[in-house]
Amino acid sequence: MTTEVARPTAVTGKEYQLLINGKWVPSKSGETLERRYPANTDVLVATFPAATEEDVDAAIAAARAAFDNPTGWAHIPARQRADVLRRAAQKIRDETNELAKLLASEVGKPVGEASLEVVMTADVFEYYAGLALNVSGQVRSNYVDDALGLILKEPVGVVGIITPWNFPMLLATWKLAPALAVGCTTVIKPATYTPCTTFELGRILTEAGAPAGVVNVVTGSGKVVGDRIAASPHVDKVAFTGSTEVGQHVMRAAAGNVKKISLELGGKSPNIIFADAPLQGAVIGSLFGIYLNAGQVCQAGSRVLVQKEIHDQFLGMFTNFIGTMKIGDPMDPATRMGPVVSDAQLSTVEHYVDAGNKEKATLVTGGGRVTGAGFEKGYFYQPTVFDQVDNRMKIAQEEIFGPVLSVIPFETPEEALAIANDTMYGLAAAVWTKDIDRAIKFAKNIKAGTVWINSYHAAGALGVPVMPFGGYKQSGIGRELGLEGMEGFLETKSVSIKLN
Ligand code: NDP
Repeated sequence: MTTEVARPTAVTGKEYQLLINGKWVPSKSGETLERRYPANTDVLVATFPAATEEDVDAAIAAARAAFDNPTGWAHIPARQRADVLRRAAQKIRDETNELAKLLASEVGKPVGEASLEVVMTADVFEYYAGLALNVSGQVRSNYVDDALGLILKEPVGVVGIITPWNFPMLLATWKLAPALAVGCTTVIKPATYTPCTTFELGRILTEAGAPAGVVNVVTGSGKVVGDRIAASPHVDKVAFTGSTEVGQHVMRAAAGNVKKISLELGGKSPNIIFADAPLQGAVIGSLFGIYLNAGQVCQAGSRVLVQKEIHDQFLGMFTNFIGTMKIGDPMDPATRMGPVVSDAQLSTVEHYVDAGNKEKATLVTGGGRVTGAGFEKGYFYQPTVFDQVDNRMKIAQEEIFGPVLSVIPFETPEEALAIANDTMYGLAAAVWTKDIDRAIKFAKNIKAGTVWINSYHAAGALGVPVMPFGGYKQSGIGRELGLEGMEGFLETKSVSIKLN
């Protein structure tokens, strides 16, 4: 006898409130917003408050008071902050299945990918729990004989965190965990499409012992809530991930009180495959590179540069593999690609596919919505490949944030490097080759914050919290993860002691 294991269904009917000063409260206006399942918009996943400016100010005031408290979060032994982060990590691990279902329901990503994100979130909390005790300054002792210099590191203060919808749990945690570890207090504004798992992070951190005011969660439109955080004179730093356009706006708003900022913005990352590459690995890595989270990944390998000798073979294998990818309900463990996040994102993808066709790139596969039974009420788009793309085309220059790959053939390593660097972005890049000299030369010459050799996404930012992540050029300012990710939440103070 076999036992049927029921497939999980999307989470429904969650009701959230704002988290302000340790309490769950409605918005002052009473207005609420809703999130529907991107795979079937009949399913209401959650309702949550549309915060007013007054609500945001209350959250900021709570974070300010918690930070300025002389016996509060910034002043308790680092060990106690580490304990909170460690307990939060354990709670996240204990709740992995529920959180993964919720994450898959709000984003539309396959539940397997969602589980991975949840586990990586726990890893990040654990990593920074370990580092909390390691915030240390320096002594400069020999610049003159009659003085001693101490360099102290201190928490920057109240941190405003503004996050996008593609990895809502992980990208909030990349900011939250180091900020909390060093003693900052926080106000988080998740993307309006994906508030649920950020509310859960607020709950988990509160249950783990974060005192009132240390973690506040406010939801509502970017123009009201995000803008208020970015412009507030009572916020000391804004940590933002999202589009370059909104990043520029945040930068301008932050100028009012000369806030510290970190910006993690878009990318158009090159994934370069030389003729001597381990081909099967390169094909599978490239699929993962572009179709993870339906292409809605800032570091997606959205430009594949392939050397002419193996171009046809690569493309043949790549499209065969696409044929084996199950597209469907994110709750089905067999699903490899779910819907995109929203109707607006679906239209953006369609707009770029039109542009690719108009600019005469060769459409190899995909190029339309997924139709048929089960897809009528979701935002499904086919995995799409354009070949013979010229790097000057719109589809090679602009971030699509959907399952659309541009394949650009090249002949020489010099040509590949020039094409790879010919972009306003500089977030990530990969190179596939057995020639170690060529790989390292490429890694040194590419203008990008992350480089993978013979992998895509597999090691580095998405795999472990140790490696710093961030962009060159218009892909951002500052670094997240690693020791560098903690440095961004610290001020440096020089203390000079005169020796008599
Ligand atoms: P946005 O940059 O608009 O949103 C990111 C975050 O900023 C959200 O929380 C959003 O809130 C908030 N926000 C929006 N307007 C303001 C504002 N005026 N002041 C402060 N905060 C604001 O990204 P989208 O979600 O609209 O996606 C648009 C494009 O951005 C995508 O197609 C993709 O190209 C890119 N993107 C890049 C990401 C990355 O990881 N680098 C992640 C997500 C998107 P709200 O949700 O309420 O609008």
